[in-house]
Amino acid sequence: MANAPTIKDIRVILTAPAGSRLVVVRVETSDTGLYGLGCATFTQRHLAVKSAVEEYLRPLLIGRPVDRIEDIWQTCWVHSYWRNGPVLNNALSGVDMALWDILGKRAGLPVYELLGGRCRQGAAIYRHADGRTPVEVEDNVRRWMAEGLTHVRAQMGGYGGRAGNLHRPEGSPDGAYFDPAAYARSVPKLFEHLRNTLGDEVELLHDVHERLRPGDAVLLAKRLEPYSLFFLEDPLAPEDIDYLAAIRSQCATPIAIGELFNSPREWTPLISARLLDYVRMHISQMGGLTPARKVAAYAELHGVRTAWHGPGDVSPVGHACNLHLDVSVPNFGVQEFAGFSEALQEVFPGCPEVRQGYMYPNDQPGFGIDLNEVAAARFPCSDEIDVWTQARTPDGTASKP
Ligand code: MG
Repeated sequence: MANAPTIKDIRVILTAPAGSRLVVVRVETSDTGLYGLGCATFTQRHLAVKSAVEEYLRPLLIGRPVDRIEDIWQTCWVHSYWRNGPVLNNALSGVDMALWDILGKRAGLPVYELLGGRCRQGAAIYRHADGRTPVEVEDNVRRWMAEGLTHVRAQMGGYGGRAGNLHRPEGSPDGAYFDPAAYARSVPKLFEHLRNTLGDEVELLHDVHERLRPGDAVLLAKRLEPYSLFFLEDPLAPEDIDYLAAIRSQCATPIAIGELFNSPREWTPLISARLLDYVRMHISQMGGLTPARKVAAYAELHGVRTAWHGPGDVSPVGHACNLHLDVSVPNFGVQEFAGFSEALQEVFPGCPEVRQGYMYPNDQPGFGIDLNEVAAARFPCSDEIDVWTQARTPDGTASKP
């Protein structure tokens, strides 16, 4: 390729076409019409990320050649001196993905080709089935199976459940209350019902969402072993990962963990000790494609597979990045997916397509996805204070959400 163009401008676009506040970074280059998009979404702190990109990374990076992706990543990572935290990691993710998008556009190739080419045509996805009772959850799992899905995550009453004894002390503050004990009792019963009615063919997953005390998470993983889960998601909070060894010593339930991780010090020891089966970091939070592809390669060498975080608070640009990695690494496991509404597809032309349980990248250069800023402006981000992250247990204690 000819001499690389340079970074001319970096902007952040905030939009919420499906409710979640999305943060998208647009890197403009000195070549007219050549730009890249990256996802920097941190839906609970979107304004802080915008500030980190526009007030700190923009002045640092303007004028640098766009093909120095690794050098720019390393420079940004250490430039703040303090590192490995949310906000700054998100900002770096957005810029990093945008540079990979630009590289693909310059080469005239999809990013997955730059990563070594396809290992598979599409990525198996899992969707989320919830319900108030085991029968209702079963019906909703069947609905996804009828759409061709082979992997479904089954929950009952949201994360941590809503049932239980919420008898709380007088004067307790408002919040999103849940009862961990009732939740832990209900999950094995749910999966006993699902296996009895759905059989063994469908791959079932479950997300603890760090809602249990570590010892209770060990017990739950053990009690779920007879139901052959595809994986148990985030049984422990990042602060409690030393308990993974206890889960491993007690049962063979496969473990997926990492959507809250920020630092290589969190994932590297777990992979090398083979204490998890699936890494599932939020690529728009861990620093972007540059560190994610290294983690995928490191995981491959240890028999660990990937299941990158893919909820509604990842933009379609971030989903496209997940997908290009999914199809190009040998150790792909499964991809979380929350659906693209019509509004999302209007704001983000070129969204990956899902058919019969598989997500497919298009063959356009870069990530193959664009952002319609006029449409995006019709869906401004709300400044409402989130309630679901104000989690509390029955005695009124603030808890991890
Ligand atoms: Mg999760």
